[in-house]
Amino acid sequence: MRKQFLPFSTPCISEEEISHVVDVLRSGWITTGPQCAKFEDAFSELTGAAGSVAVCSATGGMHCALQALGIGPGDEVITPAMTWVSTVNLICLQGATPVFADVDRDTLLVTRETIEPLITTKTRVIIPVHFAGAPVDLDPIRQLAAERGIALLEDAAHAAGTMYKGNIIGKQGTAIFSFHPIKNMTTGEGGMVCSDDQALLARIKSLKFHGLGVDAFDRQALGRTPQAQVVQPGYKYNLTDIAAALGLGQLARLAAFNAKRTELAEQYRARLSSVPEVTPLALPNYPHTHAWHLFIVRLDVEKTGIDRDALMSRLKERNIGTGLHFRAVHLQKYYVESMGMKRGMLPNTEWNSDRILSLPLCPSMSENDVDDVVDAIRDALIIRNGVRNQLPNGPESTAH
Ligand SMILES: *Cc1c(COP(=O)(O)O)cnc(C)c1O
Repeated sequence: MRKQFLPFSTPCISEEEISHVVDVLRSGWITTGPQCAKFEDAFSELTGAAGSVAVCSATGGMHCALQALGIGPGDEVITPAMTWVSTVNLICLQGATPVFADVDRDTLLVTRETIEPLITTKTRVIIPVHFAGAPVDLDPIRQLAAERGIALLEDAAHAAGTMYKGNIIGKQGTAIFSFHPIKNMTTGEGGMVCSDDQALLARIKSLKFHGLGVDAFDRQALGRTPQAQVVQPGYKYNLTDIAAALGLGQLARLAAFNAKRTELAEQYRARLSSVPEVTPLALPNYPHTHAWHLFIVRLDVEKTGIDRDALMSRLKERNIGTGLHFRAVHLQKYYVESMGMKRGMLPNTEWNSDRILSLPLCPSMSENDVDDVVDAIRDALIIRNGVRNQLPNGPESTAH
């Protein structure tokens, strides 16, 4: 068994990045300023976005975007329940109503087909999630949104570096990225809103800093123009220059990070092909580049006779950390009690919610780490079944 605990994910921070952060700490300007401006420009350059606004989290960025679109009571917003809770919470906090689209059972992606039947005269926004680093099939969804005059906000928290049909996510439309420590690149906490809609972006830029009309670092005064006035009440969701300095270093290494993630994911797929008890997500059948934010498998609970939570704790006993992305939002306490959500409403989401777990995946991992995870899975499943050679090609079946 593995001696040292393998966490589900650890951030990769270089000494160079640390020294850039220290430089900012010594510079006399640590909050939103020149580093943030540089980070926004570099992000726009990478994605080809017309503009980018740095924020303190993807959640903060999404909040600004919903407010900028004027989403409020009486409005409906379509999003999957297979997502992080933040989006759904924000829709509710705006006084609007979340409407949950089911996902494809094997990719966990929403599709035009799962979204279209949910559209009503009240539908104002569609928020698809580029799940685990794979892009949703955007063309049909963009077409649907355009036909019906509905805004589209892409949850790109998993999708830094993801490409859809030759275009990087963030280039077209409005996409919101996260730099939380488990994401493909990190600023500690942070996010970025990219958009080709300059008017929307200007509103988001104002909303993320108190709703002030001006948001410029004045190089002469070494600060913000004190004359700025509130144009509409806003939030306090700006990113610090300390975080942006880290982000600049991470952004420069994003392609290398994602290449390593892809290698590890391919190794997982190859090793797990002989473990039919756990099935990785399927890959989209349209041209794309996967960012491999997460490596998710589904446990065959019927065949193994154990549930997902049991497998997670058995892996933990074997020094393997795992994650759960995600427990279906609509079946969580508040949504059941306040919205009358119940099991049976979203069959594919629920089926996966009971069976998914995320295996360790981050660029600091080695080939041996992946082998350790797969060995631990075999071991965890074999012991429970009491049959040492239950799994085909397992180390136990060939040992005697
Ligand atoms: C992480 C995540 C978010 C929120 O990102 P923060 O930067 O932590 O606010 C939103 N949506 C999804 C799908 C996520 O995984």
